Amino acid sequence: MKMDTKLIHGGIFGDEHTGAVSVPIYQVSTYKQDGVGNHKGFEYSRTGNPTRHALEVLIADLENGVRGFAFSSGMAAISTIVSLFSQGDHLVVGDDIYGGTYRVLSKVFSRLGIESTFVDTSVLSNVEAAIRPNTKAIYMETPSNPLLKVTDIKGLAIIAKKHNLLSIVDNTFLTPYWQNPLDLGADIVLHSATKYLGGHSDLVAGLVAVKNEELGEQLHFVQNSIGAVLGPQDSWLLIRGLKTLGLRMKAHEANAVQLAKWLSNHEQVSKVYYPGLVTHTGHEMASIQARGYGGIISFDVGSEERADQILSKTKYFTLAESLGAVESLISVPARMTHASIPAERRAELGITDGLIRISVGVEDVEDLIQDLAQAMEVTAGSNV
Ligand SMILES: *Cc1c(COP(=O)(O)O)cnc(C)c1O
Repeated sequence: MKMDTKLIHGGIFGDEHTGAVSVPIYQVSTYKQDGVGNHKGFEYSRTGNPTRHALEVLIADLENGVRGFAFSSGMAAISTIVSLFSQGDHLVVGDDIYGGTYRVLSKVFSRLGIESTFVDTSVLSNVEAAIRPNTKAIYMETPSNPLLKVTDIKGLAIIAKKHNLLSIVDNTFLTPYWQNPLDLGADIVLHSATKYLGGHSDLVAGLVAVKNEELGEQLHFVQNSIGAVLGPQDSWLLIRGLKTLGLRMKAHEANAVQLAKWLSNHEQVSKVYYPGLVTHTGHEMASIQARGYGGIISFDVGSEERADQILSKTKYFTLAESLGAVESLISVPARMTHASIPAERRAELGITDGLIRISVGVEDVEDLIQDLAQAMEVTAGSNV
């Protein structure tokens, strides 16, 4: 089955009891047993719920995994995955990852004795050099957030296998529509489904898929033990959002390609980060391992003041955290999504005060270009 068909017919189609073409919302916590332990596959909704199950089978299908999992947020998914590890274990992690992931690893799991070393995973030798005798996994995001650095997933998976480590990929930015990390050798793929997979800024969720049954069993044990599962209403909404993922991803990307080119030629912009630009350092690798470049662009306008002027003037780009929805969003990572990363660390990484990140929506691209053009006009008397 091709990807666009899988989005509609993958997982569990409709309801076998009634013929309904949409999976019903099973708003239920517990299930009748005909005798102790004699049930129809569901006992208690933390352990399993039919609506959530339909979503979990679908994400497994879309990522070419054997088992899927749905969580109450992307962070709940990440925290559950990290809970596979034990006190004394060590992880090698990308240094340009989502701020919340950095926070939970450096401020929460570090207290429980799970240590992380943050390295630029786009340079494979950095990863190999950071591996210790107690290292258990490599965790990466590609393209990364907010600088869109591209990591060679296959290369890292080979290093992971060699050292007997799990490789974990946050695939939020490209989604299974454009990139399938499990096919490239990764063991676990995860998503903040709050972003493109939901796609409409109306829910918070996390999804995971794994490549092997045994790992799937272990993850289900931790998912059920911790209990940060997605409810049936949100599971249904996410299945609905996923049906249009292909249509949306193509529209996001077509708009982003045009905007990235336009920004590259703008005299007020010192740097544009977008993997679809041939000038981007990760362009070649992105072209090899993914089928698309996504809809996120970061660009540098030189200063916090200048960034603030632009943010205050856009009409269609809404100032907000998050990304991946039908409406275009604009943010300044240094003071928003990445504020939890210490200032000196941000400077080291290149997340400057003048860095703007846009999540390109599916509006008409001419309106989007015009909106940014008017917001970036330098007004008379301005000193920046
Ligand atoms: C938003 C995001 C997360 C966290 O997901 P939530 O759904 O907000 O908990 C993790 N990784 C990436 C890349 C994200 O953009």
